[in-house]
Amino acid sequence: MIAFGFRLSTVILSVLMLASAALAQDAVPAKQLFGKITLPSKQRAMPLGFYAKGCLAGGIAIPVDGPAWQVIHLSRNRRWGTPEMIALVERLARESRAEDGWNGLMIGDISQPRGGPMLSGHASHQIGLDADIWLTPMPSRTMTYEEREVVPRASVLKSSMMQVDNRKWTKAHQRLIVRAARYPQVERLFVHPAIKKKLCDTLEGSDRNVLNKIRPIYGHHYHFHIRMKCPPGSQGCEDQVDPPADSGCGKQVADWLAKVKPRPEVKPTKPVKVAKPRHMMLSALPDACAVVLKAPAVANMAVAEYNPDGTITQTQTAVTAYAADTSATSAQVAAGDDYSLFVPALGSVPFPLVRPSM
Ligand SMILES: [Zn+2]
Repeated sequence: MIAFGFRLSTVILSVLMLASAALAQDAVPAKQLFGKITLPSKQRAMPLGFYAKGCLAGGIAIPVDGPAWQVIHLSRNRRWGTPEMIALVERLARESRAEDGWNGLMIGDISQPRGGPMLSGHASHQIGLDADIWLTPMPSRTMTYEEREVVPRASVLKSSMMQVDNRKWTKAHQRLIVRAARYPQVERLFVHPAIKKKLCDTLEGSDRNVLNKIRPIYGHHYHFHIRMKCPPGSQGCEDQVDPPADSGCGKQVADWLAKVKPRPEVKPTKPVKVAKPRHMMLSALPDACAVVLKAPAVANMAVAEYNPDGTITQTQTAVTAYAADTSATSAQVAAGDDYSLFVPALGSVPFPLVRPSM
């Protein structure tokens, strides 16, 4: 009886401890839990939840540099996605360079190592299926890490912000965007309303079939945003409703242009009540995200980089998309855990292993 009582109280105690741990975790906004994790979970890659409310298991990184891309803002550590997303970005980079006259992609944010809400920026990008691509081609030389932090946000709009500037906008921009939108795996592509209007006015023939996927939205005049559909077999991923088949070139784009029209700032006559921000808590995300958060991490960034044959090598190898062309030296591989050997400290995020020179 005493033993039973003891056991019972132990059980109650551990249940209480679990509950209080869960409560403690829910006292902190989810962005703080996900925003400070520097490595992905050692799990099978899986998008979990919705683009703006979810997380990413087993994230895969796009290599910092490739034959047709350079990733920027490395200190943010947001070059993580599902293997399908990373493969698609690489494909777009290679094809647009080979066929569209686009020198190569400058790749901005994809997702954090374990996805989830972020400490700054985006509401979406949480499940490894959103990627920001700059509307400026990459330079022909390899940028330094410092340069990548401060890449200018070069708008393709006139200063009125209501029209595309034809001195900045090229046919190559158009071809790049149409190519991205044509991929059947792409669910939507977000651009500034003035860019959508330009495409409405200039696209011809079968290119017009992708206009419905190209959606107007605030911002997005120096970069555009690719959103992928949930990959087949990802049961935990919540698809967005397909965009309507209509091109959206009539009233929709006109309404959006009216919405983004710059207005003179109005000084409030009454003191403005500042609403308390409501942060997304872990409990708002799919239950599996708590598991992702606690799961062990991969050994380092290099082991979780994308390999184009679709396999992820969980060994001490610098896996890159161009591993077939160049292989890392053993010294580079051995140093893979010590990022400080390669780059000056810019923040608390460990920098990725520098790829072998091309
Ligand atoms: Zn974006």
